[in-house]
Amino acid sequence: MSSAAIFPPPPEHMARLTTLVDRFAGRLENRLLRASPWQVVQVSTREPIVSFTFDDVPASALDAGATILEADGVRGTFYISGGLAGRVEPGRTMIDLAGCKELAARGHEIGCHSHAHRDLRHVDSETLVEDLARNAGYLDAIDPRSGRRNFAYPYNSGSFGKRAILANAFRTCRAGGEGINRGPTDPTFLRAVEIRQPQQHVLGLVRWIDALIADPGWLIFFTHDIAPRPTPYGCTAPGFRLLVGYALARGCHVLTVDAALDRMGLRERAP
Ligand SMILES: [Zn+2]
Repeated sequence: MSSAAIFPPPPEHMARLTTLVDRFAGRLENRLLRASPWQVVQVSTREPIVSFTFDDVPASALDAGATILEADGVRGTFYISGGLAGRVEPGRTMIDLAGCKELAARGHEIGCHSHAHRDLRHVDSETLVEDLARNAGYLDAIDPRSGRRNFAYPYNSGSFGKRAILANAFRTCRAGGEGINRGPTDPTFLRAVEIRQPQQHVLGLVRWIDALIADPGWLIFFTHDIAPRPTPYGCTAPGFRLLVGYALARGCHVLTVDAALDRMGLRERAP
């Protein structure tokens, strides 16, 4: 037997292996969730609808992102994690309560992104219910409402065991998946396309808008910060402005998630 077989791998190698296995398991679970919808609604294919959404949310999404949308007379959906409020991270500072109130006052939709921003696969049901109640308290202080909000999964990571809780609590739940919602669609696992770096990738995203014009449905974009030097998960202001302007120039209806659901006749049911 060789000496390599006697000693375990170094801890940093084990940690990396664990992360890789977890990522693979997450991707597999998302694929299985797509293959077995919890609910099915019909997303209209009569006209092209685009929603611009932000996750977490960095303060620059208000300062630059919301301002760009407003300049074109449209609004976005901002999925807020109360637990991230005001946090300073490398390359971005998170929006605080006052910033969220400004978003709501300017007509943007406030959605839920959980409070603690943990991968839901690693949260038990009881903890998730408590977490969602905590975030609902935070969001109600921003924008009180009687109907259900829309939700976006932290890390776009779905979880089989949490679908009943989420379906009951929210009007829709948005994941990733890089696709357009058309026809039969699971509202607890909406597809979305990421706006992220590099800039060449952002410019290439106009192809999604072209695809939507050719074959209408509901295209949801998501991003994070809008900054001159964005994080890998964000975009520059010119890049974001280009996508919003292109969607409008091509005749898309640019709507918040809530407004898109209303327009498609996917009405809120009684909670
Ligand atoms: Zn997030």
